[in-house]
Amino acid sequence: MKIAVFPGSFDPITTGHVDLVRRALPLFDKIIIAVGVNSTKKYLFPLEQRLAWLRVVFDSYPTVGVDQFQNLTAHYCQRIGARYLLRGLRNASDFDYEKTISQLNHIVGGGIETVFLIAQPEFSHISSTIVREIIVGGADATPFIPSEIKIELQ
Ligand code: ADP
Repeated sequence: MKIAVFPGSFDPITTGHVDLVRRALPLFDKIIIAVGVNSTKKYLFPLEQRLAWLRVVFDSYPTVGVDQFQNLTAHYCQRIGARYLLRGLRNASDFDYEKTISQLNHIVGGGIETVFLIAQPEFSHISSTIVREIIVGGADATPFIPSEIKIELQ
């Protein structure tokens, strides 16, 4: 059983994340979208909200699950029996960052392989960081987030 973990903050989920998961579906028997919980990191949206959005968006995908984890991604993968990580590459700075993390995860996770998909051109400008800025700035983020979710700032 080929299980991949797609780790991230998903603060919030974007159409770029969804595209990545859809393209990875044929590669794995199961994809677990796992929200990493880092108590020192500040998020715009609460964990429960981010998880709820992921569940709604991927509700109709039988091979996609949603979960959360603390501490090391590699240890989480080992715990659930996942031998693959899924990540997206939008540009060279993604590559520089991901290269090191992937090499570390391979060692710490006892051979975990990270599978990278290059972002499609129409999604490569989309990031959660930009979407947060748009939301906080009071502009309309709907072009960048899945149609199933509606963002309301409390
Ligand atoms: P992190 O907190 O680790 O940065 P994110 O939620 O920002 O997590 O992103 C998780 C993963 O989704 C990363 O591998 C990132 O490269 C990928 N990703 C984000 N946006 C896009 C996009 N527009 N196209 C392809 N991959 C993307």
